[in-house]
Amino acid sequence: EVSESDESTNKRETFISQWKKSQKNVKYGKITSLPIQKQRQQLPIYSMRSELVEQIQNNQFLVIVGETGSGKTTQIVQYIKEEEINKTLDGKTKIIGCTQPRRVAAQSVAKRVSEEIGCKLGEEVGYTVRFDDNTSSSTVIKYMTDGMLQREALNDPSMSKYSVIMLDEAHERTIATDVLFALLKKAAAKNPDLKVIVTSATLDSGKFSAFFNNCPIVKIPGRTYPVEILYTKEPETDYLAAALDSVMQIHLSEPAGDILVFLTGQEEIDTSCEVLFQRMKILGDSVPELIILPVYSALPSEVQSKIFEPTPAGSRKVVLATNIAETSITIDGIYYVIDPGFVKINAYDPKLGMDSLTIHPISQAQANQRSGRAGRTGPGKCYRLYTEQAYNKEMIANTVPEIQRTNLSHTILMLKAMGINDLLTFEFMDPPSNNTMLVALQDLYTLDALDEEGYLTQLGKKMADFPMEPALAKTLIKSVEFECTEEILTIVAMLSVQTIFYRPKEHQKLADQRKLRFHHPLGDHLTLLNVFQSWQLNGCSKVWCQDNFIQERSMKRAMDVRKQLKSIMTKYGYRLTSCGSNIDLIRKTLCAGYFKNTSKRIANEGYKTLAEETAVHLHPSSCLFGKNPEYVLFHSLLLTTREYMHCVTVIEPKWLYELAPKFFRQGEGENKKQEKIVPLFKGNKDEWRLSTQKKRNLG
Ligand code: ADP
Ligand code: MG
Repeated sequence: EVSESDESTNKRETFISQWKKSQKNVKYGKITSLPIQKQRQQLPIYSMRSELVEQIQNNQFLVIVGETGSGKTTQIVQYIKEEEINKTLDGKTKIIGCTQPRRVAAQSVAKRVSEEIGCKLGEEVGYTVRFDDNTSSSTVIKYMTDGMLQREALNDPSMSKYSVIMLDEAHERTIATDVLFALLKKAAAKNPDLKVIVTSATLDSGKFSAFFNNCPIVKIPGRTYPVEILYTKEPETDYLAAALDSVMQIHLSEPAGDILVFLTGQEEIDTSCEVLFQRMKILGDSVPELIILPVYSALPSEVQSKIFEPTPAGSRKVVLATNIAETSITIDGIYYVIDPGFVKINAYDPKLGMDSLTIHPISQAQANQRSGRAGRTGPGKCYRLYTEQAYNKEMIANTVPEIQRTNLSHTILMLKAMGINDLLTFEFMDPPSNNTMLVALQDLYTLDALDEEGYLTQLGKKMADFPMEPALAKTLIKSVEFECTEEILTIVAMLSVQTIFYRPKEHQKLADQRKLRFHHPLGDHLTLLNVFQSWQLNGCSKVWCQDNFIQERSMKRAMDVRKQLKSIMTKYGYRLTSCGSNIDLIRKTLCAGYFKNTSKRIANEGYKTLAEETAVHLHPSSCLFGKNPEYVLFHSLLLTTREYMHCVTVIEPKWLYELAPKFFRQGEGENKKQEKIVPLFKGNKDEWRLSTQKKRNLG
């Protein structure tokens, strides 16, 4: 039973009376779906079909601009196929590729298009995202993440399998899309049969056209309704609470129409869904149904497709989404948008010397994209949970391209593996700063992926075979030497899924107790290993997951990822060994890859990173929380209220200079017992820059 305070009882009564009043004027139309081919003809892009086809036929490069939801992603590839632009002169059919910055978008759009065409997903229409390839030899329309196409360029720089490649959502300016701009321009110069289409939802298209030799730009007329923008009078201190209050207010007092809320990540979304669910439960049958739907990338596709189902008459849908709903996917029937003004992005933090996931204010361009989502079906409203002043004065106009804000080591490793050594002349649309490149080169050098002169080493070549960040790739490769590959495979797979444990409100204590059983005294990596091994020992059972408050779908996904990683390992001939109970080998292997992500506890001060001496903290969910070991290694950093280390393991300091001699050396310890570690790259970047990388890479 949920107990209520007087305040919430009052609130509830106000809500209900408001709701009842508003219902007098509301007429719920029955939402019926048109036949799927009719739906295609209703899209704004349909009126442009013949012009688009002609322009694609006549040009090697083309930029297409159109509002989100106009039909770019789902329709253009179908027009190309229907008009057989992808057939060569000798009658062969080539693939039409379409990239997406996000895996969820690639999966969901491929599913939709397979329905429109009337084939099974994976046959004529398929998708490829990391660790999930749903294509076959009959696939003609292939959706994929931009990262996957960048990988394909490694083995086939001229893109010989493709007739047309559409770089979709180019306005998102992800690193992979930015790199593909340059790679495809090169490929097209060598391969005159290859066509490149760039699509964007915003008006920065001139830049894209200029890059592709001033190619034509086609604009798709929008069909949008006015959206009323409402700002808060005062800045919100708690945007999440404000967002949820707004949802309830809209549901109880506004006419029919679905709601879209932009939140920053899975945890926030899951909690919000639960809060809304509880609030609706309190209100009971007296109010219409509110269908609560989460959308984020870790969600399995069955759940995702629910968001596209029409809302039954008399009820309302609220979709709580990450910024994936900003432009990548379009949900019909949204009349209300709630925009707290934040987004979680990966950004390089010079204070830490590494990337960190951070919640950031959005840009004005993003705010406008978000509000636009409310005006697709009719005139809508957007509730901005920030002041008008904040919008005008504090928000930057456009989002900074990812290439200028995140660590480039993965990208540079891939470019080097393609034989592109001279990064200065590589044609980036917006080149990253020299410093960003240097940091990445330095990372790769300390990982032994590059030699003193900036050339790829044997190890670097091997690392490029793995579709993941260099430190993780190196960890996998090193596990062979340390004979713990089976264990590392599991840990890496478990790290790739988001949440393993869950903590339902009504059983928090019990959930915590169960979680304790898996806790390994040496840290979270080994705890993850424990969970996976116990799950397998228990026949991968659903009941076991429920009993232990473990997300079954995360476990299944981890198993899937593990299988794929294992097949890469076997394909390249690595020996798969197990270390049994020799746990230290696992921790050493982790040090070989993640030596940079290490920190030391300093008495009375807490943890400081070894590399940059920045303060970081153990997260309360870590199994080391409260134990405070002296030296730890962590998988990543998450900045919320403070800088948290995520997934933490105890290490021995001597492993650091033994395994990463290019990054650490042993200092002259005053006290023999206490190891002293000197990070080599702290403060003397310039020296290193002059001595090695500069001449080779940056001219
Ligand atoms: P754009 O790329 O221009 O933003 P899309 O081609 O993605 O537009 O979407 C066009 C329309 O197709 C959307 O308005 C939506 O109605 C529909 N649609 C897209 N994806 C799905 C899906 N997975 N399920 C149902 N409908 C979808
Ligand atoms: Mg699209």
